[in-house]
This record gives sequence, structure tokens and C-alpha cells, in this order.
Amino acid sequence: MNMDLCELSPAYVRSIAPYQPGKPISELAREMGLEEKAIVKLASNENPLGIGPRTRAAIDASLAEIARYPDGNGYELKLALARRHGVDMASIVLGNGSNDVLELVSLAFLGPERAAVYSQHAFAVYPLATQARGARSIAVPARAYAHDLEAMAKAVDDATYVLWIANPNNPTGTLAPADELEALLRRVPERVIVVIDEAYNEYLRPDLKSPSVKWLKRHPNLVITRTFSKAYGLAGLRVGYALAHPSVADVMNRVRQPFNVNSVALAAATAALDDMEFVARSYAENLQGMKQLEEGARGLGLEYIVSYGNFITIRVGKAAEVYKRLLRRGVIVRPVANYGLPEHLRVTVGTAAENDKFLAALAASLRE
Ligand SMILES: *Cc1c(COP(=O)(O)O)cnc(C)c1O
Repeated sequence: MNMDLCELSPAYVRSIAPYQPGKPISELAREMGLEEKAIVKLASNENPLGIGPRTRAAIDASLAEIARYPDGNGYELKLALARRHGVDMASIVLGNGSNDVLELVSLAFLGPERAAVYSQHAFAVYPLATQARGARSIAVPARAYAHDLEAMAKAVDDATYVLWIANPNNPTGTLAPADELEALLRRVPERVIVVIDEAYNEYLRPDLKSPSVKWLKRHPNLVITRTFSKAYGLAGLRVGYALAHPSVADVMNRVRQPFNVNSVALAAATAALDDMEFVARSYAENLQGMKQLEEGARGLGLEYIVSYGNFITIRVGKAAEVYKRLLRRGVIVRPVANYGLPEHLRVTVGTAAENDKFLAALAASLRE
């Protein structure tokens, strides 16, 4: 066969650059001949504390029913979320991670001849989900690494149907203030679905959290996304959700796979909502760890972007080289050149011991 089979897919699909995940521990262990236990992974903004006790018990119990299909409507989890947020169950869309929910937005509202607006340095899934539908990307220059919400609102054109906002943003950790978000919602046409991705919400100081759920009533074009992957510690199980106007949720549910969230994940997430102490501890330890990393970076004379998430993006200079040197020392962080930040590395806040190990390895890597 002489034909390049890739040519069979539409050009907009072929030009997608694959998502670059953090390097798995097992892969580095194989490559470097290291013990998995000796490796510190601070590359994917995972919760270093694992999961809470109720969550663990629910996972154990759910295994007995694993031969059955999950509840495709996720009744129990939606009920718990509806109570938590004070919304109707019809306003909730569950996803296989919030990544899935972001894909559902693009499936439901984007396509060729349409466009989506997002910020420079914004979460990589927005360009991916936009491009995969054949929609046009409108990337708006960031201001001091942060979303320039005014410029984003101005960038909306007649073909724009989605505006993506990560708050806080990954990989920069920047936060958009609530009043500026509200101003954007008032300004953009109602036709534009405004996605506020709040994957790191639980890590925010209470007074810094936007009252975004309240905005749903006034702004039916608002979609809020949240995840169980970060503060709840369930990254491996894949559960996230959207809160939206019931009509918006309805179309998103139509393009969803009928069983997109598995039964173990549903049980775990439902229980995780009650593991309040675990989330509180995750929040508190993250604040401590963030201080530790900030002080460590300052001690090494490095600049960093002030972060509101569970990670910090540090300017190390020749980041690709420093990344490799860290790998040789058994520390996995995340290069962010693909985000237009070739001099930075993104580092997840780990346990105190992991942060220490990273800082020591970083100091040694910079001296090398
Ligand atoms: C981690 C992250 C997500 C969540 O991913 P999941 O698919 O829920 O694991 C979503 N948005 C941003 C900005 C993130 O950093």
C-alpha cells in the first residue's frame, strides 16, 4: 500500500499535536534503571496525599459490582453534587475526567465554520478540543502570564461559540478575579458558551473563590467544570463534571458516551465529596508545600509565577536541559515549552519530603 493512511483523516485532525502527559514513574524507572520507590513525580498535579478513607472504603465496596454496567446517569453522584452546589440534577454533566466534559462542550458547540477563544499559555486541552472539531482557534496574548479577559472578550467574533477560561490556569497558576469574570460574562454575546474550568478550585483560599455557581442563573451560557483528579486525589479513576443551564447540559449529555464514567469512579467520587477532612488537609498541606517551593526557588535566585493551584511554574533558564538533569536524579517535573514557556518548568507541590528532594535535585542540576 502506497497511500499514507493518515491522509484519510481531515486535515484539521492530522494537524493536531498530541497532548504531552507527564512522564510515568514506571517509564523513568525502566529508562534509568531506577527503583520506582526512589522516584519523585511532581509532573501531573496529582494529590501527594492519595485519597481519603471514605473514598477508599467506597472503592473497595464497589468492586463487588464490577461485572455490571455503571449507572449511565450517575444518579447518586449527581444527587450528591446537586446538594453540594444547590443546583438541579439536570444541570450536571458527568465526565471521564473533566477533560471529557471539555470535549463534550466542543462536540456540542463547535465544528467547522465556528471558532473558540482561549488565552496564550492556557490549558492544552482547549486548543486540542477546538481543533479536533475543525473549529478555528483564536489565541489571545496573555498579560503577565495571565488571561487578559478584556482582550478575550474583544476577540470574540461572529463565528465564536466557545470561550475557554482556566481559573486558576494550568500551567501558569494565575487567577482571574471574580469581578473581571463577571464583567466578561456580561459583555460576551449569549450565543458564546463561556467555560470556566475550575479544576483547582479546592486549592483556593475561600475569599479568592469566585461565586461562579451563582452566576449560572443569570448567565445560561456559562459552563463551570470541576474535577475529582486534583484535591480529591482520583486522577487515576477519571471523574469530572460540568454545571450548566439544563438545556446546555442536555446537549452535552446527548454527545456523551452512555457509560462514560465507570462504576468504581462513580462510587469513589460520591464518597470523596464526604471526605471533607481529607480535602481540608490537602488544601492546608498544599499551602505549606507551596511556601516551601517558593522559598526554595527564591533561595536559588529563580523567578516563579505566583500560583493559586497545587503547582508552581519556575523559570530555570534552559528548561529542557534542567528537566533531563532532574530525570537523571529521579525527579519528574513538567517542561512547558509546548505552552510557549521554554525557560520554565512546572512543578507539582508534593509532600514536604518530595519538595525537599526536588529542591536538592534542582540545586544540583543548576550547578551541573
Ligand atoms: C488537571 C486539569 C483538568 C482536569 O483534568 P481531568 O481530566 O479532570 O483529570 C482540567 N483543567 C485543567 C486546567 C487542569 O489542569
